[in-house]
Amino acid sequence: MNERIPYLACPLCESRNLAALRTGDCSGHALYDKRLSPTIAWKKCGDCDHVFTDGYYTEEACRILFGRTQERQQVGGLLEQNRILSARMIEKVLPYAAAGTWLDVGFGNGSLLFTAQEFGFRPVGIDLRSENVQAMKSIGFEAHCVDIAGLTLPEPCAVVSMADVLEHMPFPKDGLRAANRLLRTGGVLLVSMPNTESFVWQAMTEQDEKPYWGELEHYHNFSRTRLYALLEAHGFGVARYGISERYRACMEVVAVKRSGASSPG
Ligand SMILES: [Zn+2]
Repeated sequence: MNERIPYLACPLCESRNLAALRTGDCSGHALYDKRLSPTIAWKKCGDCDHVFTDGYYTEEACRILFGRTQERQQVGGLLEQNRILSARMIEKVLPYAAAGTWLDVGFGNGSLLFTAQEFGFRPVGIDLRSENVQAMKSIGFEAHCVDIAGLTLPEPCAVVSMADVLEHMPFPKDGLRAANRLLRTGGVLLVSMPNTESFVWQAMTEQDEKPYWGELEHYHNFSRTRLYALLEAHGFGVARYGISERYRACMEVVAVKRSGASSPG
């Protein structure tokens, strides 16, 4: 099937100066379905160096992929282990925001919201998997089945977390624009994703171990440099770098919404 809509330009800088970079084998992925191509083609932007897939999935392909939920993404999964990981993420945010609404985008197993509530935040979650949203609602948490670009909330958020989310979005700038819109000035954006500039990423690629080149759910491979530039362009100042304990080779960055940030185009 023709499962991807091709990117005609770089999804970050709109350049049409694109080159084929490499392919990845996704046939062993947990969500792989024989109706989909067994390989993923990656491109590199000649202007901003961003690396991304040659296209993003059609609605039909999304239905095939997201019809199944991996165990680690089910609400309440590995509750106690995930609470410890979530607490470490929240502790990185506390110097910049310690109360208010915490919006978690793509809440998955819900752990970050359960734990943010313990720390005194008002938890709100969005996820595209409707069964996850129903599960969160059934245990009394505010949850919405909506893309962040389509979300409106009655009050600005103190924190927006996008843990392993931007690399899943066909157009990450839409996500950052929405996060900026939903945050109060001085509010915190917590983002995580694999870092292609980390030594561990390079070592894994050299050892022919490619955890992300065959990742069906990712459209982007960000470097720290490219992410920082993108955050700056969307009205955020990076406050601290950290690594993620959730997934391999990932960075976890705390950024703060600047005062007087105009709505970037
Ligand atoms: Zn570019």
